[in-house]
Amino acid sequence: MLGTLHDLYALIRKDHRKMIALLAQIISLSDRAQAVAALEEFKTLLRDHERVEDEALYPALTLDAWPSDIAVAHASIRSALCDLEHTASDAAEWWQGVVHLRHNVERHIVEEETALGTAPSIATAPPDDDPVSSRL
Ligand SMILES: [Zn+2]
Repeated sequence: MLGTLHDLYALIRKDHRKMIALLAQIISLSDRAQAVAALEEFKTLLRDHERVEDEALYPALTLDAWPSDIAVAHASIRSALCDLEHTASDAAEWWQGVVHLRHNVERHIVEEETALGTAPSIATAPPDDDPVSSRL
């Protein structure tokens, strides 16, 4: 069992940073085979992340289900990944699929971290102008 809720939030935030960094790396790779391999790594990361959310976060928050906006964000990440899996990795659309996936992941992060009461700290988020509440 994971420690406190605080540790859990820290773990989830760390996962989010890793996912964004990995997607940025995939987008920057010019070698398609390397990019496809890195996407496999992303899928593993996402699966582990969802497991933490399901097995540790829900029970810790005593929620039966996610708030609906988070459920929607999860579903759109899965559907973006599914689209990508059905796109030939040598097609131009494949990169667009990765960019689309990143967009959905960023949205998930903002929504989930907002819902968890933590300040989203990815590049697309507004600057942290309330240092007190962000430490709670
Ligand atoms: Zn998450």
